[in-house]
Amino acid sequence: MTVAYAPRRDLVSKVRRRMTQHYAARPAKLAFERPVLSITFDDFPASAADAGAHACSIATAHAAPTTCPPAWPESMARAAWATRRPDIARLVASGHEIGCHTSTHADCAQQDIFATLEDLARNRDALLQMGAPAPRTHAYPYGETKGAMKDNLPPRFMSARGILPGLNVGAADLAQLRAYPLFGAGGMQRVSNALEARRKRNLGRRLSP
Ligand SMILES: [Zn+2]
Repeated sequence: MTVAYAPRRDLVSKVRRRMTQHYAARPAKLAFERPVLSITFDDFPASAADAGAHACSIATAHAAPTTCPPAWPESMARAAWATRRPDIARLVASGHEIGCHTSTHADCAQQDIFATLEDLARNRDALLQMGAPAPRTHAYPYGETKGAMKDNLPPRFMSARGILPGLNVGAADLAQLRAYPLFGAGGMQRVSNALEARRKRNLGRRLSP
């Protein structure tokens, strides 16, 4: 029986995970004329290409520009890649973004840096073979990273995304952008609370003399 890999959840690992935000940041001051919503589908489930893309297009029409980078599941057999080629072509043609997610779905906090860089290159090559542009964004598998990884991201990446919760407004780290999971109990509520808190903060600023 194969046991799915899961990053360690002990206290030391949790502290180390939190500390990554303080190392090797690519600081950026982010300010937008209107909100930007990015919905990502790690591992590129089949539903990301239809239901996910549809949801993104609704959001684009009614709320904000949307990028949708479903990362490619390189653990999938090569034979299966061909079956997803039309999905890739359709998503790219519709303006969705195809991001990087490593080739082996490795834990970037645990794997050797050089192995991860090779992993990222294999992911890029696979996407190029499928007609997608070279990915310019990366989502760390499991959201896991470390300072040395952030510091050695290929310069072609505009940004990399982790899973530390938060909105990317004001001072942001392009080597570890924040995100909210939409799945799981209370996922949507957490996002709603964060957006509402931000709305009130913006409103307060506008009203202050
Ligand atoms: Zn993944």
